[in-house]
Amino acid sequence: MNVLSPRDIGIILSYRCHSACKHCLYNCGPGWEKEPISLQTLREALEAVTIWPRTPQVHFTGGEPFLHYPLLLEGVRLARELGIPRYLETSAGWCIDHAEAVERFQALLDAGLQAVLISCSPFHAERIPPARTLRALRAALEVFGEDRVTLYLPEYLELIQLFDVDRPTPISEYVERFGQEATHRFLWQGYGIISGGRSGYELGHLVPRFPAHSFADDDCRLDLLFAHHSHFDLYGNFISGFCGGLTAGDWHELPQLLVDFSEGRYPPLIEMLVERGPYGLCEMAEERYGYRPLPEGYAGKCHLCVDARRHLLNNAQFEELRPTGFYDNF
Ligand code: SF4
Ligand code: SF4
Repeated sequence: MNVLSPRDIGIILSYRCHSACKHCLYNCGPGWEKEPISLQTLREALEAVTIWPRTPQVHFTGGEPFLHYPLLLEGVRLARELGIPRYLETSAGWCIDHAEAVERFQALLDAGLQAVLISCSPFHAERIPPARTLRALRAALEVFGEDRVTLYLPEYLELIQLFDVDRPTPISEYVERFGQEATHRFLWQGYGIISGGRSGYELGHLVPRFPAHSFADDDCRLDLLFAHHSHFDLYGNFISGFCGGLTAGDWHELPQLLVDFSEGRYPPLIEMLVERGPYGLCEMAEERYGYRPLPEGYAGKCHLCVDARRHLLNNAQFEELRPTGFYDNF
């Protein structure tokens, strides 16, 4: 398989979102700037996607893409014009009226949208009343039919309805009802939480913590070079894998980027992570920039990576630490 050849590219219309979920890998939330991607940049991003010999599918995402509904519609039309397979993902935070939801999904279907993914988890339910998730699901099924609607993850549908569906449910209520160990099992393991973004800080108390050196054997070659799922954001960042706040380069320069990566030329932090993983990054940050590892340890390798990167952002100059808003929105 070629390097930097994802099968699925998320187009981040903006990082803005109602929710600021604790498990969000991209630190999305209401604190980000309101202005979404411009129509021109959206077109350029979609055109860039077609550069790969095998065109990946795209998903329109954020943040919450329905915050920019007219732009979302336009994006779907453009992707159809360019022959790119396309779906969207939504948190359903906007879904307060069934008729409006049906109308919006219908317009998206007419514009050429092929499928819908709706987020469903106790992490989302901390911010989004489950009634909205249920409403979005019903409306999407009505318009797109069962085969073209994915609930991510369906095993949580019952769980999020155990509490009052008209209000958000804090994770602490699951801990109170089921205990810390069971909550850890069905939330952290059940969802397959990655410890990047906010999750190491916000949910790390649910899992055992490990010292930095326990990640010494973990490099990020596969995560960064051979990720199936990646993102183009509105600022031009090519975010490989699930590595929020770390850009592989500018997707406007995708042809050159693909040549550089296939010949093993990476930006310095990417090179460090590919070769030596987050422990190498941590050692470099300690030796050269005065980073101090967290005495309580880390919830996973990405938690270590994000924590070292936060320090580097404030104490060094690395172009890969983009978008900077990621580091302002923990
Ligand atoms: S996980 Fe989704 S819903 Fe939650 S903050 Fe991130 S983008 Fe928003
Ligand atoms: S440790 Fe860093 S580079 Fe590696 S997968 Fe996690 S976030 Fe990405």
